[in-house]
Amino acid sequence: MKVCVVGGGLCGLTAAYRLSEYFELDLYEKNTVPGGLLSSYPRSGYQIERYYHHCFSGDRRLLSLMEALGISDYLEWLKGTTGYYVDGRIHPLNTPLEILRYPHLSLADKVRLGLLTLRSKDLDTSELDEIPAKQYVVEHIGEKAYTAFFEPLLRSKFGAQSDEVSAAWLISRIAIRSDRGVSGERLGYLRGGFHHLIDSLVSKLDDAGCGIHTGVPVTRMTRDGDAWLVNGQAYDAVLSTIAPHDLALLPGAPAAPRIPYQGAACMTLGLGREVTDGIYWLNISGDAPYGAVISHTCFVPPEYYGEHIVYLASYFRDTPPAGLGDRMLSDFYRRFDVPPGMIHWHELAVGRSAGPVYTTGYRRLMPDYERHGLFMAGMFSPPNYPERSMEGAVVAADEVTELMKKRLADG
Ligand SMILES: Cc1cc2nc3c(=O)[nH]c(=O)nc-3n(C[C@H](O)[C@H](O)[C@H](O)COP(=O)(O)OP(=O)(O)OC[C@H]3O[C@@H](n4cnc5c(N)ncnc54)[C@H](O)[C@@H]3O)c2cc1C
Repeated sequence: MKVCVVGGGLCGLTAAYRLSEYFELDLYEKNTVPGGLLSSYPRSGYQIERYYHHCFSGDRRLLSLMEALGISDYLEWLKGTTGYYVDGRIHPLNTPLEILRYPHLSLADKVRLGLLTLRSKDLDTSELDEIPAKQYVVEHIGEKAYTAFFEPLLRSKFGAQSDEVSAAWLISRIAIRSDRGVSGERLGYLRGGFHHLIDSLVSKLDDAGCGIHTGVPVTRMTRDGDAWLVNGQAYDAVLSTIAPHDLALLPGAPAAPRIPYQGAACMTLGLGREVTDGIYWLNISGDAPYGAVISHTCFVPPEYYGEHIVYLASYFRDTPPAGLGDRMLSDFYRRFDVPPGMIHWHELAVGRSAGPVYTTGYRRLMPDYERHGLFMAGMFSPPNYPERSMEGAVVAADEVTELMKKRLADG
């Protein structure tokens, strides 16, 4: 039997790896390099992800995939600190003392926020799916807590669409992220970069004789009796891992569910000094062309790279604002007092299908793994709720491939 996988991101590559044991396989990836959102820039002497990445100790399937691929020895657990930039000042927000000292929330707001965090694990989020996060926070913690704390966070994650995000998403996220010790959380990173994961999958697929066609977009997909024709080639089954709205553009493809998506623009800079007072993840409050500054080398030692690496992160709907890259750079120079001469290099990555927006009613929209005879899995699948992630990509790949094996054995 011959199977086609559309999309060479982590989900498509993992699914192909699982399926390659049972079927003849072709994988199509429109970009010239595999990895999708987890692909990397090759720099001289090292590789760095186009979009900042870390994993969590609870990412069970991702960690066991790394084990199976023989790359677990690269895994390091490092301290990932967070902070808030407000009115020209950086506020670390990791320990209870730092939170108590944070001046932009009253003590009463902090107590209400703490109580909500404690309750978040016991709340039934299915009842919150139709309620906007803003309404929920204002009702339970207060207007000030929303504008001073949650609104900038939501904006850094969802840009202009943040008002549409559901309380179910917010509470699920708080519940997941509140499992940290008093001195902050340990996050996982593969020494040398997550390209090890992508490279190992590609190498296993090469060994299994799988055809990996990079730089080849799927442009047509039609049903031909029991078979599928993909770019004119016949297959017994097709797994699409691309965004449903991208699938819907392919002539002949079956109707795809309408999942709200956003794009991401991520500026990566190599520079001569550290800029965020040692903080890894700095959310930016106020008017800036990016919502967060992620100092990769405040997480992974700069000695691995011979320079500091910083990401400026921003999300957009449909298309990125004109001149975004230039505005990010000039704001960064001014805000962090960095002379342009200190920047060694910079690259802007723009992904139009960077992840779903978890709007009210989102849970109803998530599609099954099989629709109209086509298999579908990816960032829109249930394992990626309430947050699309590497773990979600691996779990979705595992679940859809189990179903495919069963269906193809039956059929
Ligand atoms: C800014 C950012 C930061 C992130 N940080 C983290 C993190 O710290 N930790 C974490 O766990 N997760 C993180 N993620 C999420 C993680 O990267 C994704 O969940 C995961 O990589 C998604 O994999 P995927 O294969 O489902 O999708 P994708 O990586 O999007 O793969 C889909 C692939 O399909 C290809 N494609 C599209 N159309 C076609 C076509 N017509 N023909 C052929 N190929 C096509 C695309 O080029 C792409 O390579 C982050 C994501 C972003 C955007």
